[in-house]
Amino acid sequence: MAPVQTAPAELRRRGWNENSILCLMSLSFNCRSCGSGQGALILDLGLQPLANNLLRLEDLSKAEPKFPLRLAVCQSCWLLQILDLVPPVQLFSEYLYFSSFSDLMLRHAKQAAERYIKEFSLGQQSLVVEIASNDGYSLQNFQSHGVPCLGIEPAANIAKVAREKGIETLVGFFGNDLAKELVGAGPAPIVPLSSPSPPPEERAGERRPFPIHRGTGSWGGGPDQENVGARPAENVESRQADLILGNNVFAHAPNTNDFVAGLRTLLKPGGRIILEFPYAVDLIEKGEFDTIYHEHVFYFSLTALRPLFERQGLSIFHVERLPIHGGSLRLFAGLDRAHPMQPSVGLLLEEETRKGLGSLSYYEGFAQRVAQLKHSLVGLVQQLKQQGKSAAGYGASAKGSTLLNFFGLGKGALEFVADRSTYKQGRLTPGTHIPIVPPSRLLEKMPDYTLLLTWNFADEILEQQKAYREKGGKFIIPIPSVRIV
Ligand SMILES: [Zn+2]
Repeated sequence: MAPVQTAPAELRRRGWNENSILCLMSLSFNCRSCGSGQGALILDLGLQPLANNLLRLEDLSKAEPKFPLRLAVCQSCWLLQILDLVPPVQLFSEYLYFSSFSDLMLRHAKQAAERYIKEFSLGQQSLVVEIASNDGYSLQNFQSHGVPCLGIEPAANIAKVAREKGIETLVGFFGNDLAKELVGAGPAPIVPLSSPSPPPEERAGERRPFPIHRGTGSWGGGPDQENVGARPAENVESRQADLILGNNVFAHAPNTNDFVAGLRTLLKPGGRIILEFPYAVDLIEKGEFDTIYHEHVFYFSLTALRPLFERQGLSIFHVERLPIHGGSLRLFAGLDRAHPMQPSVGLLLEEETRKGLGSLSYYEGFAQRVAQLKHSLVGLVQQLKQQGKSAAGYGASAKGSTLLNFFGLGKGALEFVADRSTYKQGRLTPGTHIPIVPPSRLLEKMPDYTLLLTWNFADEILEQQKAYREKGGKFIIPIPSVRIV
């Protein structure tokens, strides 16, 4: 591919602030899975703010950092990945995505948990570890069935909510070092939640990038158990997992080889790893470009995943395609030969080969499809404005941030963005600075059209907003193609 390097002086000339220039960490292609230097740029989304960095009014007086966002594909292992990383300290210092605000997510997690408990005969002797356990929306279903569980969650404010539900939760980023500590290489140093964060250079270090915060509860538990400094000795051996879950976290970990090595370390010999993540085929074929933001480093296909797992002695033995989030893959993996290989793996690999995922031409039309989508959506919004119609948005999501910023739809286009999350209301959308308000505002203001930015929850939201629609309000669903409902 053409060199992607841009001189800092040129970036300054284009108006980048110093912070953004410093954070342009990846200046040339180097596959984060196989190490190949052969990559091709697939889509350039320009400079984008951090998609989950919802602003407060007082933030408007400060410069808002923006970073390049470019998608490339490795021409050796065919892993789709973004070129420009932002240090996780910027991404996760305060995170506002609480899974429990979505009924769909709650239902999805409950069904999955009940299935796994039954299918894998999980009980009091088992351990379920969930990576990026969020507010415990998933683990609570194991806990209610008496299955011991442990959450690992990088955002302290969200981990706190899980702990308040009595779900043991570590604050930290998952990787092989953390996995080794969990399986008994000795307890990690205890850092109270209130302690200051380590400097970024320490976070980026080789050893454990983030401290493990044990919080105010004990290692063993919920909010009622007081201050037990070290975990009980008998528990040390039990920290290998029968089941490791990772929903929408795998694509977030930039050091993907270390992440998969950590899965292997943490897994009991007969245990299972189940990961869910947006599927690259849905991204490319449905033009779901708004799935791309700085937190999502990777967009996985089975073709690209197989070598990544095999490198760590793990084998993918089953896959399922799920409709959630515009199309996801649910992957089942274990130690090599620990579980019988199911036909789903061979079938999906064959399908991917037939579609051409192992060749550049498969990815080449993507940017064109996104440009067409921009043309039709922006054209529609302009047309409505000319007709004197009013418009708002729904869903102050990360997806929405990518879409609004790339399409240049700001306050002039949408009066407000409604969102159910009380954590988001009162803030402003990143980059575009549109006020975020409660969904009740839709009925009060009755905008003629509402752009559904969280189109992946369309069924749920259309049902919730029945009254607005019955009074004549219309939703615009932008992806995979623009339609009005
Ligand atoms: Zn590669």
